Amino acid sequence: MAHNVSRRSFFKTSLMGAVAVAVASAAAAKETFSPLTAEAAEIVAPIKETSEFPYTVDAKYQRLPGNKLLYQRVFDPEENKSPLKFKHDDVSKITGKKDTGKELPRINAETLGIKGRDATLTETGGIFFSHHDGTVLPLRKDELGWRELEVALDVAAWSVEYKFNGFTAPGSGPGGVIAHYPFNPVTNESGTEPVVIQGMYSWDNSKVVERRGQGRQWKFDSGEEASRIVKKAARFLGADLVGIAPYDDRWTYSTWSRPNLKPFKLPDGSGRTEYFPTDPYKFMKGEVETFGQTIVEADWKKYAGFKPKSVIAMVFEMDYEAYRTAPSILHSAAPGKSYSNMGEVAFKVANFLREIGYYAIPSGNDTGMSIPIAIQAGLGEAGRTGQLITQKYGPRLRIAKVYTDLELVPDKPRSFGVREFCRLCMKCADACPSQAISHEKEARVLQPEDCGPSENPYTEKWHVDSHRCLSFFAYNGGDCGNCISVCSWNKIDQWQHDVARIATQIPLVQDAARKFDEWFGYNGPVNPEERIESGYVANMVKDFWKDTEPTK
Ligand code: SF4
Ligand code: SF4
Repeated sequence: MAHNVSRRSFFKTSLMGAVAVAVASAAAAKETFSPLTAEAAEIVAPIKETSEFPYTVDAKYQRLPGNKLLYQRVFDPEENKSPLKFKHDDVSKITGKKDTGKELPRINAETLGIKGRDATLTETGGIFFSHHDGTVLPLRKDELGWRELEVALDVAAWSVEYKFNGFTAPGSGPGGVIAHYPFNPVTNESGTEPVVIQGMYSWDNSKVVERRGQGRQWKFDSGEEASRIVKKAARFLGADLVGIAPYDDRWTYSTWSRPNLKPFKLPDGSGRTEYFPTDPYKFMKGEVETFGQTIVEADWKKYAGFKPKSVIAMVFEMDYEAYRTAPSILHSAAPGKSYSNMGEVAFKVANFLREIGYYAIPSGNDTGMSIPIAIQAGLGEAGRTGQLITQKYGPRLRIAKVYTDLELVPDKPRSFGVREFCRLCMKCADACPSQAISHEKEARVLQPEDCGPSENPYTEKWHVDSHRCLSFFAYNGGDCGNCISVCSWNKIDQWQHDVARIATQIPLVQDAARKFDEWFGYNGPVNPEERIESGYVANMVKDFWKDTEPTK
């Protein structure tokens, strides 16, 4: 212990000089300073574990209805009756900078041929989805990063999510449904009328009933052993990080919903029928019509056959090289690839549990909120953008989870300095093209007047305006990803994250820490216009296509 104390004071007095040299000597830094920064981070900024959820959840907190999630509301016909509203009409009054998001709903309306008014949420979502599945090319289709080639990669990366996970259905659960065309093995002909089946996020637990009926439920020696084996299985089956959370009702949506689908004959002469949540014929004429949602009260026993005891939270890294091209549509392929993987791995992990006689529900963004579950599972902290930030990948990740009735020993929430760093950093807020991210220094318990309809009040966080974000997505032609790309925790090398962790403990350096990235050329320009106009995005796109080996 005494040894540690003296090392701690040594590091406190001499560390930042060493760290500054480490960062400045970027070429040699990784090999030379990586062990130093790792040890220093352990001593100066030790990881703290808490037994409770680490952020304030007010007594007035209520579970978010699943039908109020942004991508579910797109399908609510009420949302198509009035123009999309931002929480703050003019953020220039708050930030002192030009409000770059203000004109987006008008531009999006014009994309559909609508003159003289702003787009509705439904119209905005309609444009976004039609870009995302390659039906409509983005406005900037002639620019590197937004060309048909990059759109094709984006569509390919998302294709498993769309075609096998049940993309349009499981926004809030239960389960995913997708259409497939039956194949006649005798005549070798495909049908033209689809059959609708459950996708990867299937709630079919019939195997569990069968296993239990056969007396084949596997008994673990202890909760610790069960947790270790389940984690090993999840890592083996494809998750990049795994943690266990206790089941906590607060994070389950109070309602589960799915958009209603209707069958339409495709206009391509194939005679095939497909199910859509919007009328494709009207969309081709610039109108957006949706068919509402089916909404049910969340009821585990009724829809899943069990009440969960544990949740297995799994992190999936998103591609670093693709993220360097944000906000290009090429970068959108990175979340698409991870979403596609999530469904497959969650399905496999659920099937492992079902095989040994335990109920399991695989889940993507549906059923309940993934981020507080991942925090409870000790996987990371919530940053300024509200996204999970892990030590290894920063915010460059997606989360899937599996609910189960197997009793597992949960992990504990862990903090390693992200919240302190975010108070001063604000790079994501500066990099946001639609100014959706708060510049307030401190996170606080948000009140109803701070929140839009898809943002849950009474928890401690920074505000992010999801309407502004989606509005930029629709204009941009894909997602955006600037906030993830510029984040100091996003880089590949662990030692740089250790530098950030140390910086959170040294007041004079906290502010400079955000600038390390800019000074030494990591993550490109923060200013969203400069990112594109300087040629940085175009260069990153060229780099992406040039090198067939991913950056390690
Ligand atoms: S993805 Fe992030 S940076 Fe881009 S518009 Fe949304 S909040 Fe802003
Ligand atoms: S960019 Fe900075 S403020 Fe934003 S999440 Fe990352 S560390 Fe926090």
